[in-house]
Amino acid sequence: MAQHLVDAFAICIPAAFFVAAILVGRILERAWPAEADQPASEIAADYRLAALNYLINAGLALAPAIIAGGAGIGLIRLETDGWRFVPSLLIYILTLDLMLYWFHRAQHQIPALWAMHSLHHSSEALTVSTGGRHFWFEGTLKRAFLFPLTAWIFAVPASVSATAVLLYLVVDSCAHLNVRVELRAFALWINNPQYHRIHHSARPAHTNRNFADLLPFWDILFGTVWRPGADEWPATGLATGEKPSGIVDGLIWPLRRRPRLSRAAG
Ligand SMILES: [Zn+2]
Ligand SMILES: [Zn+2]
Repeated sequence: MAQHLVDAFAICIPAAFFVAAILVGRILERAWPAEADQPASEIAADYRLAALNYLINAGLALAPAIIAGGAGIGLIRLETDGWRFVPSLLIYILTLDLMLYWFHRAQHQIPALWAMHSLHHSSEALTVSTGGRHFWFEGTLKRAFLFPLTAWIFAVPASVSATAVLLYLVVDSCAHLNVRVELRAFALWINNPQYHRIHHSARPAHTNRNFADLLPFWDILFGTVWRPGADEWPATGLATGEKPSGIVDGLIWPLRRRPRLSRAAG
């Protein structure tokens, strides 16, 4: 039971970071908005759905069956003494990011997964708080099936996994910022607000582009990249305009979705 309490607590850390990111992000979004006058109702929906997501996942972490595979077997030991910390971190992040890329593509191509992931894409006001707007079972799926894969491949020291978690929290929060920052020549180096906004775009031409969580390199390698142009800040949301009507709708979102919400493979 003690381990389950640790896992539940581990979900509280991203939740606390998420709150801190909103406090800082809102200042930046007011100063340099990519999209002015975003509807307050959309941002309020982000808060409700993010709270639902974090609360349910913290509760589910207490259920033994959900985290049974988390320990893994660790075929390759990542060493962290001295200079070896850096290559170990790079190897771990490259492997994790590649898995996250393909999982994200699957979320757009497999109807059952898109039925869940479409909640994240339903936001018509992309902002730092949209980073927490996920259907609650998505996090559980990742913890139960995706993250154990890295634990089977690598014996991951806590210093490596903690650094990676922190890096992903920072980049994911920045990527959803409603801040007009264009990296131009460096736009394909790391996920950023303009790059990820293309992924959330309601324009059909942008559908199934820019899946990368951290490194756009994967989109370049697998042919799903869309290089943002100058002043390219499209409107976001689902092509159908569907949005959750409230907290209960967010709780049961996939059950109410219909195949017409499915996106074509890209
Ligand atoms: Zn997506
Ligand atoms: Zn997103």
